[in-house]
Amino acid sequence: MLHRPTSLREALALKAELGEAATFHAGGTELLVALKAHVLQYDHVIDIKQVQELREIRLLDDGALRIGSLSTHHVIAHDPLVQRLLPGYADLSDHVANIRVRVAGTLGGVLCFAEPHADAPTMLCALDARIVLANTTGQRNVPSREFHVGEFATARKDDELLVSIDVPPQLPGDRSAYRPFGHTERPAVGVAAVWSPQGSQRLRLWTGAVVAVPVALCKAQEVAQSLPSQAPFDEVWRALEPVITAEAEQIDAHDDLHGSADYKKHLVTVLAQRALQECLQ
Ligand SMILES: Cc1cc2nc3c(=O)[nH]c(=O)nc-3n(C[C@H](O)[C@H](O)[C@H](O)COP(=O)(O)OP(=O)(O)OC[C@H]3O[C@@H](n4cnc5c(N)ncnc54)[C@H](O)[C@@H]3O)c2cc1C
Repeated sequence: MLHRPTSLREALALKAELGEAATFHAGGTELLVALKAHVLQYDHVIDIKQVQELREIRLLDDGALRIGSLSTHHVIAHDPLVQRLLPGYADLSDHVANIRVRVAGTLGGVLCFAEPHADAPTMLCALDARIVLANTTGQRNVPSREFHVGEFATARKDDELLVSIDVPPQLPGDRSAYRPFGHTERPAVGVAAVWSPQGSQRLRLWTGAVVAVPVALCKAQEVAQSLPSQAPFDEVWRALEPVITAEAEQIDAHDDLHGSADYKKHLVTVLAQRALQECLQ
């Protein structure tokens, strides 16, 4: 049975009442395929598309940018606030899959479905985003770094709806970039970098799609702490390349349709170079 709530409160109440026999439906780009293939089966589908409060993109009092979970990749890519404050993220959204997926697929949907070969989760980890979840008893925030816990698995409880993704304010001079590569419609590997001249953490560098959840390249981040904030790209890359290559080698990647484990590890270094170059040029 299809339900079409028009408010968040109504959507949450329906889910609480119907329990595990019901699922949320946003753009349907993943869900409908899984339902048709009988990979997933539900007695009730709660279509949340009419819940307007899940569509807002606005600044919060603490300066964070709130992106409502129903925002499609296309809307995010063309939103003036996202373009001004997070140009790297707007650019990522403009290159997800193909125009049909970008127009229908939502940010909440890609996060909740948790197919590892996705772009947004990697970038949101590098941007330190907070995932806002709600059920009938209240709301809670989960750091994006803790949201994905495995392949098709997240920290969201079954009765929780993903309300928004809140990206904290970036510092003056922060630059972010994301570089993916793949030969299917989904990325084989993606790397997100945030270079922060004034931040207490100079570099946040994450890779995604290589394993089930995004991975921080912690050693590279440590080494970057000792680099001058205005260092030219060549100097930064001389210091970081061997560290990133060694760290990529340690990732427990596997051979699959997207490429061999060795190929994916090699891509991590190549894409890290491109993302850093974009940040520092
Ligand atoms: C052909 C193809 C190519 C793709 N390529 C890429 C790519 O290159 N990069 C990339 O990043 N992604 C890619 N994707 C994934 C795409 O980003 C997602 O399909 C899309 O964003 C999912 O959003 P949706 O609104 O359609 O989710 P739906 O299909 O409606 O839902 C997906 C799942 O999330 C749950 N859900 C949805 N919204 C919420 C919510 N607010 N709260 C709680 N649960 C929720 C649903 O119950 C369901 O289980 C691709 C998808 C396809 C089909």
